[in-house]
Amino acid sequence: MPTPSDDRNSDDSPAPALDDLESTAELHALGPAACLFKSLGDETRLTILQHLSLGEHRVVDLTDHLGLAQSTVSAHLACLRDCGLVVSRPKGRASMWSLAVPELLALLRSAELLLEATGDSVTLCPTHESTIAGATSPHADREERG
Ligand SMILES: [Zn+2]
Repeated sequence: MPTPSDDRNSDDSPAPALDDLESTAELHALGPAACLFKSLGDETRLTILQHLSLGEHRVVDLTDHLGLAQSTVSAHLACLRDCGLVVSRPKGRASMWSLAVPELLALLRSAELLLEATGDSVTLCPTHESTIAGATSPHADREERG
């Protein structure tokens, strides 16, 4: 029979003891993964990644497409860059932002499949759709190549 004394566990559970070196090392080993999912755990950052999966964007493109302040977009881009998910290259006075690695698209598609399996239907990675469907994105008439 369960006792009600376990209620506190659902509250603020204290951090694991840090003198346990093994589990500390384990935590450090998982740090990049935690950073990855933390970075992906934000709707605005996911939206930015969606846009970047369609091609390079300048900050001004993202503010335009997302309707967000430049400072907001820049802060999110900095987070995504620190986690190694996006990179930028200089072009004129601006920076062109893009996905750091194509593997990110596979992860977003995996997330779509997972969400589908759990009963939600979302489109995290628009690249396959835009390739098939064509012109319904805000990028259709804006993004020039070369
Ligand atoms: Zn866009």
